[in-house]
Amino acid sequence: MSDMKWTVLVDNRTNNPTLQTEHGLSIFLETERYRILLDTGASDIFIRNAERLGIDLSTVDYVFISHGHSDHAGGLKHFIVINKKAKIIVSPDALSGKFFSKRRCLHSITTAGPEIPSERLLPIEQSGWIADDLYVIARIPQVHPMPKGNQYLFAQNADGTYIPDDFRHELALYTDGLLFTGCAHSGLENILAATPLPVNEVVGGFHLLDGHESEDELRELAYRLTDSYPQTHFHTSHCTGDAVFVTLKNVMGERLQAFSCGTFSFSQMNRSATASSFHLSASLFQPFRRS
Ligand SMILES: [Zn+2]
Ligand SMILES: [Zn+2]
Repeated sequence: MSDMKWTVLVDNRTNNPTLQTEHGLSIFLETERYRILLDTGASDIFIRNAERLGIDLSTVDYVFISHGHSDHAGGLKHFIVINKKAKIIVSPDALSGKFFSKRRCLHSITTAGPEIPSERLLPIEQSGWIADDLYVIARIPQVHPMPKGNQYLFAQNADGTYIPDDFRHELALYTDGLLFTGCAHSGLENILAATPLPVNEVVGGFHLLDGHESEDELRELAYRLTDSYPQTHFHTSHCTGDAVFVTLKNVMGERLQAFSCGTFSFSQMNRSATASSFHLSASLFQPFRRS
C-alpha cells in the first residue's frame, strides 16, 4: 500500500461537535493518484463538514456511489454544483431504481435524482478496472449469509408492486488495498469474496443492525473474517449497530475499529495509523456520542 488518507465527512455519529451528523455516509479518500468522494450522505452536510475540515471538494476526480439509497446518494445533486469535473461511478440501477424501507413505517429511500450530464457518468454493470488502481465490484454473488436487516428493504416495480431488494444496484470500490463497502447490503463476506485483490483495509457500514443476527452468528462471522482475511483491518460505523460492534470487537480486537464524522486514517508505505480529531484536540470536544 502506498500513501493514502481517508477522512469521514458524514456518519451517524461523531466525537466532534463542530461537525454535523445525519443518517448517512460520506468519506473523502486521497490516494497517490486520485481524490475520491466515497458516497455523499443524505444532504449537503458533507460539503459543510468538508469546509470545516479544510477539504476542497472542487478538486475531487471521482465520486463513487455505492448504491441507490438516499443516505448515500442524496448529496450527489449538491456535489455536482460545487464540482464540475469529477466522474460519477454508479450502477445504472441505482439511478433508475425506486427504493423503499418498511422499517417502522413504509417510506421512500429513493434518491431524488439530480439530472447528471451523461459525460460525467461512469455507469458500471460488471466488475472490472475502470482506471489505474481503481477496481469496481458489481453484481456481487450472494453465496454467504446476507444481512438480516435487509428484510425491510424493497424495490418498486413499474406497476407499483414492492419486491425484496436484490441489491443489483450495489457496488464496492477497491483501490490500492482499500475496499469501500458502502452499506454492505450484499454482505461483507460476499463483497470480500468478489474482490480478487489483496485487501488491507475494509471501510464502510456492514448493515448489521442491532437485534437481528444472533450473538453466535455475529461471533462466527467475526471468526470467519479474522481467519479468512488475516492481513485485513476493518473500519465501520453508519449501519453497524453499537451492540453488534461490541460483539464483533470482542472477537476481532484491534482488527476492528469504529469511525465517526471527522475520523481520519493515514497509511504510509507499510506503516498505518488511524486517529480521530478527538485524539488530536481532546479538550475541544465532548465525550463520545452515539446517535
Ligand atoms: Zn442502503
Ligand atoms: Zn446506508
